[in-house]
Amino acid sequence: MNDCIFCQILAGTIPSHKIYEDKDVIAFLDISQTTIGHTLVIPKQHVRDLFDLEEKLAGHTFAVATQLAKKIVPLVGATGVNIVNNNHAVAGQAVFHFHVHIVPRFDAHTDGYHATWANNMATTSAETLANLATQLRR
Ligand code: AMP
Ligand code: ZN
Repeated sequence: MNDCIFCQILAGTIPSHKIYEDKDVIAFLDISQTTIGHTLVIPKQHVRDLFDLEEKLAGHTFAVATQLAKKIVPLVGATGVNIVNNNHAVAGQAVFHFHVHIVPRFDAHTDGYHATWANNMATTSAETLANLATQLRR
């Protein structure tokens, strides 16, 4: 996986500010620092995205993200945090080695992080929702 930038960070051939490591996972500061303390948690195993990630490793990666968020947020003086995971280019994934973003939040409008959520309640019928839920419960 020589062409994977996160595998290169793992191997130490690309420098990073590593903040956590155990046998399965590492975390390091995101180079973009969208907000101060922006961190990435990755499995050591090269897994492309959520669809290839085994559930136990997913659980551990998110557990580490949870622990680190609780440490980072008070340390940088943030008042909230977004935990973000992008899968596939359509969802904004740019590095194709699974990762969880920890983005400390300071201001809902001006701190540099933006996510917008449309409300399509008016154009989604009750029948559509009921059918979808039925299929998903199967
Ligand atoms: P995503 O869009 O979810 O795939 O996010 C990829 C993230 O990787 C971006 O936030 C980048 O800033 C970050 N990134 C890319 N290269 C590096 C690097 N060498 N060190 C730390 N973070 C990086
Ligand atoms: Zn990789």
